[in-house]
Amino acid sequence: MANFVIEYAAMDNRGAAIRASGVVLTPIDCRRCGYNLYGLPADGPCPECGLDVWDSIVYTVDPATSGLPRVRNPGVVGDCLLWLMVFLATASLLLVVRPLAHWVDAMDPAGVGSLAGSIPSWLGLVAGLIGLAGLVCVKRLAPPAGEEPGSSVWRDVRRLGAGLAGWSILILAAWILEFAGAPRWAILALWPGIAAAAVAGLVGLRGVLGTIGLRSRDYRTARGGRQGIRAMIAATIGLAAGQVLRLVAEAMELEWLSTLGVVATSICTLMVVIGLGYLVVNAWWIRRSLRSPPPRLEEILGPPG
Ligand SMILES: [Zn+2]
Repeated sequence: MANFVIEYAAMDNRGAAIRASGVVLTPIDCRRCGYNLYGLPADGPCPECGLDVWDSIVYTVDPATSGLPRVRNPGVVGDCLLWLMVFLATASLLLVVRPLAHWVDAMDPAGVGSLAGSIPSWLGLVAGLIGLAGLVCVKRLAPPAGEEPGSSVWRDVRRLGAGLAGWSILILAAWILEFAGAPRWAILALWPGIAAAAVAGLVGLRGVLGTIGLRSRDYRTARGGRQGIRAMIAATIGLAAGQVLRLVAEAMELEWLSTLGVVATSICTLMVVIGLGYLVVNAWWIRRSLRSPPPRLEEILGPPG
């Protein structure tokens, strides 16, 4: 009940008066039994199951969302958030294909498998370009130019953009090095930079999701299906650490250290890929809420007659 009072207070100051005298103006369903509450007084019970009509109204209105300022251009923000996540997941998957092929080859006891050899080398190029394309989406997540320049939204969007730009450029640099036949250590040495850029971008993404995601009840209240960005940051750091371990192991010719590096890299890669999959789903939820936000209290309740 206390929770309900807080939600109600956040919902609308005029709510108390409307509740006392108002009736339900639109066909909404009882939250418990599904009975159509149209025309019933807001202050009474559901005739079928006895649940307070007000309870169903509060659920339909989603006070936590209604209390927030509406996002300008919610359709574009929802689309761009979803596209950004799809781009990030696709780019990461492209980068994972070759290490995965190497791993499959290594599992082959005969050692004749050459799956990795058949993977095209331009995947890194495409991944970097997809990352750069994602910058268009990031730009459109921000409020219109000149508005709220000092706000936390702008700060988060700038971090996200800078991180994604740095990540894409370093991925492209790695591809160019490989194309030019640079030694493997030179490519592996880029990894701390790639990870640092990814972490910067993830910190920005965390802020953006925190701000925009509040408007989605699915995202706000999800326990299992909501991807934590901290776990993504940890996995990214672990991934880079694994690559550095492999570099050190190669220089010192330590077989066990190399194995440790490969295991750390594999586990963290898996975590990142799964995490990005969840983020696509989360972005889908948020997009859905932005495109069809819950109704406002005054749209549901009004004076009788
Ligand atoms: Zn009912």
